[in-house]
Amino acid sequence: MMTLPSHSTITGKTKLLGVIGYPIEHSLSPVMHNAALAALGSSYAYLPFAIDPADLPLALAGFEAIGLQGFNVTIPHKQAIMPLLNDISEIAQAIGAVNTVCRTESGWYGTNTDLDGFLAPLKAQPQTWTESIAVILGNGGAARAVVAGCHQLGCRKIAVVGRDRQKLEAFWQSWQNHPVSAQLTVSEWQNLPDLLPQAHLLVNTTPIGMAPHSENSPIDPTLMAKLTPGTIAYDLIYTPRPTKFLQQAENQGLKAIDGLEMLVQQGAAALQLWLRQPVPVDVMRSALLEFLRA
Ligand code: NAP
Repeated sequence: MMTLPSHSTITGKTKLLGVIGYPIEHSLSPVMHNAALAALGSSYAYLPFAIDPADLPLALAGFEAIGLQGFNVTIPHKQAIMPLLNDISEIAQAIGAVNTVCRTESGWYGTNTDLDGFLAPLKAQPQTWTESIAVILGNGGAARAVVAGCHQLGCRKIAVVGRDRQKLEAFWQSWQNHPVSAQLTVSEWQNLPDLLPQAHLLVNTTPIGMAPHSENSPIDPTLMAKLTPGTIAYDLIYTPRPTKFLQQAENQGLKAIDGLEMLVQQGAAALQLWLRQPVPVDVMRSALLEFLRA
């Protein structure tokens, strides 16, 4: 049975963590973080904050005033918060987005744990990734963490596929001062028939197939059939489980990874930064699974 903190566990000593977004009602972060905090018996509570983009500087000043210890950042604030912070990790600068902010002695420090989340299930696989080829569908915010992750894995080639030539060009340009630029290519969807047979990892970073549009897949079965045995299909989407994209991959005998573990592991990495102690990842995963099943 999942344990969530009750009002009776809030005392005068309770410290605050949270997540900002706009809207924020859909966020699953409070569920997994409060489950972990309760399991640790910690004196923290994690709250959702709906912050209108126009109020972001005001919200940060308010957080400073009330002593908020740290917070997650979701859409639409992941880029907008960056100029308001005192320090930003190298990886968040490379990705161009912050999803975790910590209060430090020198002010607000922003970093990005989406990359840790993305990598966790891949690092659990038996294979090595050097010399492998990753094909990434989509060139939005999440694709940036995926590109940085594939670079950390040591992929030989990272091919990003998108539908808008100008956005692809801007995406490519934005990586030109980063070592990943030597491995990165960008191309349009019509190049997929050439790219897919080379892929060892195919990642869907588009929202295609996300509930309530669960009947959709970013690629049709004919394209999926171009993947070779042993390729891993990874969908960042976590509802439904599995997505149509992952069903297609499984039907073909390919290994499928969905976005739930990424969500859990990016949260665990953030909580560990705030608490500076190991956190119960299993509790976070179970809390999410139970919430999604309900
Ligand atoms: P985003 O910044 O809006 O990027 C979405 C990308 O998908 C864009 O490149 C967009 O293309 C492309 N796209 C959207 N609809 C498309 C369509 N019909 N055909 C072709 N391409 C399409 O969103 P994001 O923040 O990267 O999130 C993307 C997905 O990842 C969402 O489903 C989100 O839930 C998931 N996600 C999961 C986790 C996790 O922890 N598991 C973390 C982050 C994100 P254009 O640029 O041309 O519009």
